[in-house]
Amino acid sequence: MATRAEVLAELGLTPVWRLRADAVRGSGDAAERSAGDGADARTSRIARLAWDAFAADVDACTACGLCRTRQKSVPGVGDVRANWLLVGEAPGAEEDARGEPFVGQAGRLLDNMLAALGLARGRNVYIANVLKCRPPNNRTPEPLEVAACRPYLDRQVALIGPRLILALGKSAANTLLGIDATIASLRGRVHRYQGVPLVVTYHPAYLLRNLPDKAKAWDDLLLARRTLA
Ligand code: SF4
Repeated sequence: MATRAEVLAELGLTPVWRLRADAVRGSGDAAERSAGDGADARTSRIARLAWDAFAADVDACTACGLCRTRQKSVPGVGDVRANWLLVGEAPGAEEDARGEPFVGQAGRLLDNMLAALGLARGRNVYIANVLKCRPPNNRTPEPLEVAACRPYLDRQVALIGPRLILALGKSAANTLLGIDATIASLRGRVHRYQGVPLVVTYHPAYLLRNLPDKAKAWDDLLLARRTLA
């Protein structure tokens, strides 16, 4: 097992790898289905979506105004039977351009964090955001946008059946837990979302700006691993 110093070195910014699992893509008639169904019918329909239709359904979604400003929807990526589900707040500019969550420098740091645990995106890990489309200028998501997008995340949780959810950043944690708390008060204990144990840690983009907190993030990952075990 790696020493603490080795692990913290591993969490450096040098890319370790860029393993990319194929996003689960599906085809179908999602565009037609998206229009016109009421909120309850839409929620029920999303709750029955299969993986092969999931990404196309998100891509056709017009349930909130972010559909008008996004370049690409960002449904999620990874192992659809993963034990680990990582959830951030919303796509940023690079994610919006590529249609994949956590790319760029923050994504590389996240990959390094996963590598320190012997994990990789696409290998026992699924990565998603609460919101599947980018808020303009990375503004904070509106409550109505979060509510409109929530059925997709809930469906992902149901389809994947993760044994642990890692909430990346204060915003994702507060949204998932339905509270308004500081990240300091949320770290270090195990919460639950949809019955699944949930551990809170920092968003990789925050860690890029606050390097000393990487050690705390490592403590969070160890708590997550112990919880899953
Ligand atoms: Fe639909 Fe979610 Fe995109 Fe809004 S953010 S348009 S609810 S997929």
